[in-house]
Amino acid sequence: MAAMGLSARSWLDAALGFLFPEACQLCGEARATPSQAYVCADCRAEVRFIEPPFCERCGRPFEGEITNQFECLNCREMELAFSSARSAVFAREKVLELIHRYKYHRALWFEPLLAELLIQRAAPELAKAKWNWIVPVPLHPAKQREREFNQAERLAVRLGEATGIGVNTKLVERVIPTRSQTLLSRPEREANVRRAFAAKKGAELKGDRLVLLDDVFTTGATTSACARALRAAGAAEVCVWTVARGI
Ligand SMILES: [Zn+2]
Ligand SMILES: [Zn+2]
Repeated sequence: MAAMGLSARSWLDAALGFLFPEACQLCGEARATPSQAYVCADCRAEVRFIEPPFCERCGRPFEGEITNQFECLNCREMELAFSSARSAVFAREKVLELIHRYKYHRALWFEPLLAELLIQRAAPELAKAKWNWIVPVPLHPAKQREREFNQAERLAVRLGEATGIGVNTKLVERVIPTRSQTLLSRPEREANVRRAFAAKKGAELKGDRLVLLDDVFTTGATTSACARALRAAGAAEVCVWTVARGI
């Protein structure tokens, strides 16, 4: 009877596996359920969280020994408008693929994992101070129409649910459709996005403290330009959180 029961169970698993193929969407080999965002334990183990020491200002991790510097080269070369920037994980290999497929190929099933990584690191930090709003970095309307969603906005909603901080998309907008930053140098990135953002009409920030949210942080040119527009509209402080960090 036991043997029959086992084989019946195997048959059932096979049938369910056929109807609901639960394979890891990154390696295609191991099993991964919807509640795991279709990413298996082995692939998850490759995700690297960013640990101190890092630059107090922009969050850039220091390689090797700790120095006495509070601001790194990245900060000294740029006029950053945010007070601090932090990211949960390194944007390497699997994480980079996750974000790319989530953003450009609408692989929305990865979203719970990306949100989980962000919340794990951001929620305890944000709880240490009072923040008025979470503000997702806006896309230009033309790009948002093309992509059909703003990844920063979706992740902001999940972070908002986890922290109890409201999400506000009515404060800042992208007024210039900038070209992709991927192949640009640091000064080119800054010039490319300098005038890309503006406070929305009627946005009056009476000394509010904001959490600016994006998916990936590279040089900080984009988030800094967005933070500058929010500061011009009256924000007292803007800190930046992203899921991943490119450099
Ligand atoms: Zn896998
Ligand atoms: Zn720095």
